[in-house]
Order: sequence, then C-alpha cells, then structure tokens
Amino acid sequence: MKTLFEKIIDRDIPADFVYEDDLCIAINDINPQAPIHILLIPKKPIEKLSDCDDCDKDLLSHLFLTVGKITKKLDINNTFRVNINNGKGAGQEVFHLHIHILGGRKFNWPPG
Ligand code: AMP
Repeated sequence: MKTLFEKIIDRDIPADFVYEDDLCIAINDINPQAPIHILLIPKKPIEKLSDCDDCDKDLLSHLFLTVGKITKKLDINNTFRVNINNGKGAGQEVFHLHIHILGGRKFNWPPG
C-alpha cells in the first residue's frame, strides 16, 4: 500500500509543490507550524530516518543540500529550523521519511 507521501509524489492526491527533482519533492505542509513550513520528502519510501543505511548516503546528502537550496531561494537561509520526527514517540505521523523545514518566525530551544 502506498504511503500518503507516495500518493502525493504520484499525483494521486493533490499537494502544493514547491520543489521537485529526480530524488525528492518539497510541498507546503497542510497544517503549518510557522509562516513557512515545507516538507522535503524523498521519492524512495523509507519509513523513518533510523531505517536508512549506507546505501542511502547519497540520498541523505542530497536531501540536506536541497534544504540549503530551498531556504536560499526563500531567503530564509540565515534563520530556519529543520526537524525530523523519528517514530511515534517523537511525533511521527506519516511513516515515509520527511524533513520539516520551518521558517519565518523565531524558534525556541528546547523544542517541546
Ligand atoms: P510527522 O508528524 O513528522 O509525520 O509530519 C507529518 C506532517 O505531514 C504533518 O506536519 C502534517 O501536517 C503533514 N501533512 C499531513 N497530510 C498532508 C497533506 N495531505 N499535505 C501536506 N502535508 C500533510
């Protein structure tokens, strides 16, 4: 069965795309927690970060470099937060790896 994000990648369900390349997509989060809240999602359906292994090295590198491209394009490259929820206890709801990119406001530490 396809994950929610695979359905979005395959255009089975609509989403607000902000970026796409061969390896990943970026969409606006449907329930934004900041003025800018983007989800960067690999096309490869990896359940969560801790499932990645050595063969995902290039993909993970690509994702983080893409964070830089997107934040630069949006002119938030000096202040933004990236977040990955890994597992239910960490708040993960969609079990297809994704990176939250949040910007446009001040962020506190530690997070909740
Ligand atoms: P997580 O809790 O880390 O698994 O994050 C899942 C994120 O997906 C949440 O921030 C949701 O608001 C977001 N989300 C759920 N459904 C959609 C959708 N159809 N389009 C865009 N974002 C979504």
